[in-house]
Amino acid sequence: MAESKTAHSPLVTYFSMISLLTLCPPFVILLWYTMVHSDGSILKTLDYLRQHGMKGFVEIWPRPTATAWKIIAAYAAFEAILQLLLPGKIVRGPISPAGNQPVYKANGMAAYAVTLITYLCLWWFGIFNPLVVYDHLGEIFSALIFGSLVFCIFLYIKGHLAPSSTDSGSCGNIIIDFYWGMELYPRIGKHFDIKVFTNCRFGMMSWAVLAVTYCIKQYEENGTVTDSMLVNTILMLVYVTKFFWWEAGYWNTMDIAHDRAGFYICWGCLVWVPSIYTSPGMYLVNHPVNLGTQLALSILVAGILCIYINYDCDRQRQEFRRTNGKCQVWGKAPSKIVASHTTTSGETKTSLLLTSGWWGLSRHFHYVPEILGAFFWTVPALFNHFLPYFYVIFLTILLFDRAKRDDDRCRSKYGKYWKLYCEKVPNRIIPGVY
Ligand code: NDP
Repeated sequence: MAESKTAHSPLVTYFSMISLLTLCPPFVILLWYTMVHSDGSILKTLDYLRQHGMKGFVEIWPRPTATAWKIIAAYAAFEAILQLLLPGKIVRGPISPAGNQPVYKANGMAAYAVTLITYLCLWWFGIFNPLVVYDHLGEIFSALIFGSLVFCIFLYIKGHLAPSSTDSGSCGNIIIDFYWGMELYPRIGKHFDIKVFTNCRFGMMSWAVLAVTYCIKQYEENGTVTDSMLVNTILMLVYVTKFFWWEAGYWNTMDIAHDRAGFYICWGCLVWVPSIYTSPGMYLVNHPVNLGTQLALSILVAGILCIYINYDCDRQRQEFRRTNGKCQVWGKAPSKIVASHTTTSGETKTSLLLTSGWWGLSRHFHYVPEILGAFFWTVPALFNHFLPYFYVIFLTILLFDRAKRDDDRCRSKYGKYWKLYCEKVPNRIIPGVY
């Protein structure tokens, strides 16, 4: 049984799954409704619900229409074709717990550029207006909620009947299997990697596409784009560009290398990312805040700096591992721990743990600029409403939980070597504080 299975007890799984199924879909719809139809005001939406009750809630839940399905199908097919056909360097992922090493084609940056250029050209030449996406947003989210459920059932069945590698298997509990996933690296055929598609090419790509959509919507409505919207869109695009620039590095992270493809992660990438991660921009469409050049530029520079530091943390760790510690970290030879561990097949392997540079400040310092970056692309909304800040708050909780989850996993993987790292670098996230 691989580590993703042992990490979650049945009770945590049931609780997590029930919350995700019952609370998150209505939340996605209510957030969209509040942003688009309720002036971004939670109080206004609550007032509506108080007056109209459950019937009112059912009425505001958009039904997935044919237009919504067509938009999703066209987008998904386009991204799948780009993933399969665009050229890219062949890269190898980390060796899995069962000893497999997935091979990828690193064409994310090309797919990202082609997607955005195509989308802007479709708009500019009057072939497809992004306003159609904005005007059907509720229906699209609704279709994604149902569609992703069906997709995860497919993953579950595939995991049982046709797993792509030995990094798969059942833990004997159908709910845990469905929720946390059966396969670590599911593929269709030899080349179409499902997690690259859901996490990167559908989820992360939709973030950029929707950020641009919100900007275009404001432009088409008002004939101009406010500086707040510009700062928000530029920062979100810089972030997503950074992501695709570093996509092959992402294939070494927990999402890909440790978490199996199940409902938890797929739902997050297919529904939560497009709806919640993009929400500060969704809010700004109907709230054209003017910040003034100085404030707008200050926020922009601070945001870009945070995104850069976050990138540099990931780059530093990756470069350190790639060169087997034979690199410079902040101008010096890195300090490190040589940590040995045993794989599920009983082999003893060693990994290097970096204990200087960003990774010497705290064990998950990279989450600090990640959270601050999100704050800076939200703050152009100023402080009239709470809802635009939901993503930053959610992200903070997610990353604090993730840091704990990762520490627990590393402790059980590296034992005394991890203890040594914790002694050398005592703080988990915020240097000197936590
Ligand atoms: P990473 O996978 O990048 O880092 C954790 C892993 O790195 C550990 O599991 C361990 O893996 C290895 N490791 C830990 N400490 C060290 C060390 N000192 N030296 C070398 N290797 C070490 O973490 P994440 O996947 O959480 O983050 C990747 C990026 O994604 C970050 O930029 C993060 O901010 C971002 N992110 C964004 C989210 C969002 O929703 N916006 C959510 C999550 C992440 P091993 O087993 O190989 O030793």
